[in-house]
Formats: sequence, structure tokens, C-alpha cells
Amino acid sequence: MTLSLGPRRDAVGLKDGALLVDGKWRPASDGATWTHRHPATGEAIGTVPVANESDVDEAVRAARHAFDEGDWPRARAHIRVGVLLRYASLLREHAEELRGLQALDNGVPLMFSTNIYAGSVEIAADVFTHHAGWVDKVGGQTLPPYQGGDHLAMTFRDPIGVVAAILPWNAPFLLFAQKLGPALAAGCTVVLKPSEFASFAVLRMVELLSEAGLPDGVVNVVTGPGSPTGEALITHPLVDKISFTGSRAVGRHIVEASAGTLKRVSLELGGKSPTLVFPDAPDVGMAAMTTVGTVTMGLSGQACVAHTRALVHRDVYDQFLGAAETMAGAVTYGDPFELSTTASPLINTRQLDRVLGLIERGRAAGARLVCGGERAGGDLAEGNFVRPTIFADVDNDMEIAREEVFGPVLAVIPFTDENEAVRIANDTDYGLGAGLYTADAKRAFRLARRLRAGTVGINGFQVEPHLPFGGFKQSGLGREGGQSAFEAYTELKTVLMPLTDEMM
Ligand code: NDP
Repeated sequence: MTLSLGPRRDAVGLKDGALLVDGKWRPASDGATWTHRHPATGEAIGTVPVANESDVDEAVRAARHAFDEGDWPRARAHIRVGVLLRYASLLREHAEELRGLQALDNGVPLMFSTNIYAGSVEIAADVFTHHAGWVDKVGGQTLPPYQGGDHLAMTFRDPIGVVAAILPWNAPFLLFAQKLGPALAAGCTVVLKPSEFASFAVLRMVELLSEAGLPDGVVNVVTGPGSPTGEALITHPLVDKISFTGSRAVGRHIVEASAGTLKRVSLELGGKSPTLVFPDAPDVGMAAMTTVGTVTMGLSGQACVAHTRALVHRDVYDQFLGAAETMAGAVTYGDPFELSTTASPLINTRQLDRVLGLIERGRAAGARLVCGGERAGGDLAEGNFVRPTIFADVDNDMEIAREEVFGPVLAVIPFTDENEAVRIANDTDYGLGAGLYTADAKRAFRLARRLRAGTVGINGFQVEPHLPFGGFKQSGLGREGGQSAFEAYTELKTVLMPLTDEMM
């Protein structure tokens, strides 16, 4: 029987989306809507408005007014901290509802959003809790005069202004929090654009902001696709900063399109992250299972920091491949609400075709297919499911080793010595994450410093709310998480005051 999610929609209580402008929910001014089709079944799940240029203009003006005239940017610390902490509690209280809405959005199974911290509502709540802590702790400096004389020089961190926050569809809980947590803590106002493929859970998260006491106009939401909605946002002259998570191609475009008004830009982009497995790894089987897990379980490899290139020493190559294949065989697809379902469908048919094309070209280029490589059939035939795919004997110059696939595809590359492994690992345009498995502590630290990636995991990898996260090279600009993320929503201001007799 073909899978159907219609009854789930009714049980979760999903309602069609709306725009939020200055505290009022409403449709697009021209009534345009977009119908979201579920990636596991192809069924129409709900509609969201397509915000046009004039809707985006109103949302940006509301955020501008709230920044220039409203209380939020100048609110006393206890007000902002109170809202953020109340909001973190509300997220925890509504976790089950939000997980259900997300499963209807992007098909991420409840198994993942319930059990895996990085995919949970809890991590989003923790990000808000963490940033509430920065509100009254990031100060400036008092600097002695360089030229002598009596004057004071001080620095402050002012909120940066109106932020355009643009989200992808794969991990809306965490990414929503990583943008709005620091932006609101710093006193900014926001226009948020969720992905058209994952709006419903985000819209509910925004509703909860006003329940937490956030004033109208501080967060506004425009739904709709990259064009016209996103395009109107990134080019709007009243936006001060763009905070974007998504693909490298759109990231590049944002840098170009926003250059006219020299907006501040933070980019969290893709990756082709390597994991290096040495013969002295504490547990080669566990290294294989963890690596394959990041590429197949949960998001089905649709994760920026999935370790999609496994560089494996020749001495443990066959052992690694055997364990990797076993792990791939344990992946299950189906109804995302069933806890026995461990992995997601690909988000849309465009992505499905792209992944199948990359697999086909990988085969043609001479990579050895160990398992997978095809679309799932049977009662899953209407969904965008690709079987977990492992390629062995991959050459790092092949497309399958260079392109971010964003699907359940692992490229396994053999190496002979440490220098060769580092050279292959760093031979990529990206630099988001890296992992290494070894019991040799000196090698671990030596390589952690040599690998050109924003986060290096030694014998394991996890995402934490308070750790800086972001990319070297073409994986992005700036960091999310921790103090540096808070500071990225501020401008550094210098205040000078000569001390004259008249003032004393
Ligand atoms: P996209 O770049 O396609 O889209 C991201 C967001 O940008 C969506 O909201 C999209 O709208 C919007 N957008 C598209 N075109 C424009 C435009 N011209 N102007 C303004 N906004 C636009 O990425 P995906 O959603 O497909 O996400 C996958 C990518 O995100 C991968 O490359 C992945 O690596 C990266 N990613 C990075 C993370 C990190 O932290 N480094 C975390 C998660 C994902 P819409 O989709 O509605 O059309």
C-alpha cells in the first residue's frame, strides 16, 4: 500500500501559512500561494503565501521602525533575558508539536528529532538559553590615550540593525535558533525567510515568540521562494545585515547582490567534509558506523557537515568497508512519524534527480559501488528516497569526491600515510568539518591543526550550542554559536571624550 500522510496532517493540526508583518498575520498582498508537497509521498500538505516585493518592503519597514523607534534595541537587560528564557521554555513545552510539524514539512523522522540532540527542539531551546546569557556580558574596552592628554576612549557593541535571516529546509530548529538567538539577544530586529520547503514548524516557532513577550515588529516573517521573496529581501536598502544558511551558489549570489549597499553578510554554506581513519583508531567499526550515520541516518546526508569523504588507511580499508555496508543496510525509510523510520526522503524531485545523476556519473567515472545507488521502490515509490550508497576506490578528483551531493552518498578513498591523508583531506573547495580516528594523541592534535576546517572532531563529532560553528574557504563567512555569533550581530562603536575643565 502506498504511504499516505493525510491523517498525520489532521492529527498534528497543521494550518496553512501566513506572513507576519508588524505583529499581524496575513496573506500575500496579491493572494499568491505556494503548495508544499511532502517529500515522502508527493501529497499536497499545505500552502504558504508567496511574499512579493511590496510584502517584503512592508516587513522590512516594520523591522526598521521597531529598530529605530521601538524599545527592543534599547531594552534593559532583564527584559531581553526574560523574553529569551521564557521562549526557551516554550520551545521545550511545544517540542512534540514542533517535531510533528517538521515531519510534515521536510520529512525528518521523529526518531531523529526526538533522539539526536543536533536535530532536536531541545538544542534550539539551549541556543536561546545560551544567548540570553550574553545580553549583559559583552562589553567594550576603556583605552588609554595614545597621544597623552586627558581624554577617555571607550568601545561599545551596538546592535547591528535590521537582520534578514534566511533559512534552508534541512534543520530548521537549530538554524532558526542560531540566527534569532544572537540577533535578538544583541537587540536587533529581524525579517525571517524560512525555506519554502520547511515553513510550517518555523511559523509556529515564530508564533511562540509573541507568547514569550517579544514586542510586535521585532520579528517579521516573509514566506515564499528564493525569487521573488528572497531576492527582494537581500536587495532591500533598509536591511543592515544578511544572515544566510544554504548553498554555496546562493551564498555567492547574496554577496554580489548585497554589495550595492555594502550589507554585513554571514554565510553558513555547504561542505565536503573528510573523515580520516587510521589503523590505530580506537574502534574502526565504530568509525565506519559513525561516518555512515552522518551521511545516511536522520537527514539522509542532507546535512552541511555530513562526513561525506571517508579517507581510510589501506591496512583497515576492507574492515571499514564491511562495517560501513552493514550500517547502510540498517537504514529504514517510511512514515516519518513511525519511530522505526530512521532516515528522511530527499527534499524534492529536483534534488532526487541531481543525486541520482551524481551517482550515475560516479559509476561511469570508475568508482566501485559497494551498495545502494538506486531509488527505493514498492510502497515508497512516490517518495524521493535513494538507498544509502557507498562508493569505494574513489579518486579525490572525481566529481563524487568534489561536489556536495546532499544525499545519502559516501565516497571512500584509500590512503597510505598521514601526509597523503592530509593532502587529500584539504584538497577541496570546502572547509566546514573534519573528523579523525586515531588512538595516538600526538597525531590527533597535530592533524587537528593541519586540517583546514572550521570544526575538527577527534574520535567523534557533535554540534553544541555554545561552540563556534562555520567554515573555512567556500564553506562560509563568520561563525554561528558562542560569543563570536553574538558579536556578529553587533557593530563596534568607539566613543571619545576629551576631559576639559568645563566638563568637570
Ligand atoms: P538554498 O541555497 O537553495 O536555499 C537556502 C535558502 O535561500 C532558502 O530559504 C531559499 O529559498 C533561499 N534562496 C534561494 N535563492 C535565493 C535568492 N536568490 N535570494 C535569497 N534567498 C534565496 O539551500 P537549501 O535550502 O537547498 O539547503 C541546502 C544547502 O544548505 C546545502 O548546500 C547545505 O550544505 C547548506 N547548509 C549549510 C549549513 C551550515 O551551517 N553550514 C546548515 C544547513 C544547510 P527557497 O528554498 O524557499 O527557494
